[in-house]
Amino acid sequence: MREFEFINRIKAAINYTNNPIIKSIGDDCAILPYTKTMDMLITTDTICEGVHFSSKYFKAGEIGARAFTVSVSDICAMGGKPLYALVNIAYPKNIQQKYIDTLFKGLLVEATKYKTDIIGGDTISSSQLVISVTVIGKVEKGKALLRNRAKPGDSVYVTGTLGDSFAGLQILTKKKRSGLLKHELMPVNKHIAPQPHFLEGRLLLKSNMVNACMDVSDGLVSDIERICEESKTGAEILVDDLPVSFSVLKTAEQYHEKISNYALYGGEDFVLMFTVADKYKKTINQYMKKNRKVIYEIGRITRRKGIMLLKDGNKIKETGKKVWKHF
Ligand code: ADP
Ligand code: MG
Repeated sequence: MREFEFINRIKAAINYTNNPIIKSIGDDCAILPYTKTMDMLITTDTICEGVHFSSKYFKAGEIGARAFTVSVSDICAMGGKPLYALVNIAYPKNIQQKYIDTLFKGLLVEATKYKTDIIGGDTISSSQLVISVTVIGKVEKGKALLRNRAKPGDSVYVTGTLGDSFAGLQILTKKKRSGLLKHELMPVNKHIAPQPHFLEGRLLLKSNMVNACMDVSDGLVSDIERICEESKTGAEILVDDLPVSFSVLKTAEQYHEKISNYALYGGEDFVLMFTVADKYKKTINQYMKKNRKVIYEIGRITRRKGIMLLKDGNKIKETGKKVWKHF
């Protein structure tokens, strides 16, 4: 994929001068030293009309909320807490000011939920509506959950069902929000208003059992590849064990798609994917259950490179790079 090659080129071209940088390019957030007991996390994400959302079915406030969620999700992926945000908004001159005010209000409501203060940003005009949010957070010193610590033999887990957001998008491209069937409400809601797995991230950090972690934004296959690339490992994914909701089953049936395609390639579910050494399997299950959070085991990390998709114990695909592009 072009994006990854570009990022690798950027990485190779930079000579860092302002040390110490604990973590730069290659994880969900950059990490810098902060206080005696805390590290600082910094992340930025951009959403663009026609690529990440369509104002045909997103209301203004929902666009703002989503812009915050996709950024803060990266803080959650490291087990951190958000503190501050900078908000850049680019919008066409012909958009009514009231629309942008409502969009910002939506963002503010979401930021307030996570006790995040907006401390700046930028406003410009452009041909498309684009919102970019930078979130600054904190995490206990040296404890951030990283992508590059997965070990061969680790079990791989996710903190929620996969494919709901993509199913929601599929439904939205075909129907009006006012005419949804009962099973269509949940995936549409997950697409419109995804929730960052903040508590899950904090719990995973506090558990001291997690080796690697990231948020699932591009899709399971694409994202496990990133954990593996950073950790210099491979992975086996048990396709039959991927958690999918009843709504995804129904949507797949309705649109004659394979159910597994939603879970493997869907993206934008913003659940956390993490790995745990074999010896902690039982304990992590009990710990998350006790804290009323669900986790699903979906595979394991291998020494052998590449991503293997297994069904009924048989290999069905290796490094199956199929990324469903939204829009
Ligand atoms: P995520 O999906 O978690 O937001 P990305 O795929 O956007 O992560 O980015 C992967 C890594 O590459 C991150 O560490 C990010 O900071 C870095 N990155 C992405 N685009 C750029 C860029 N244009 N310049 C510098 N670093 C970048
Ligand atoms: Mg991420």
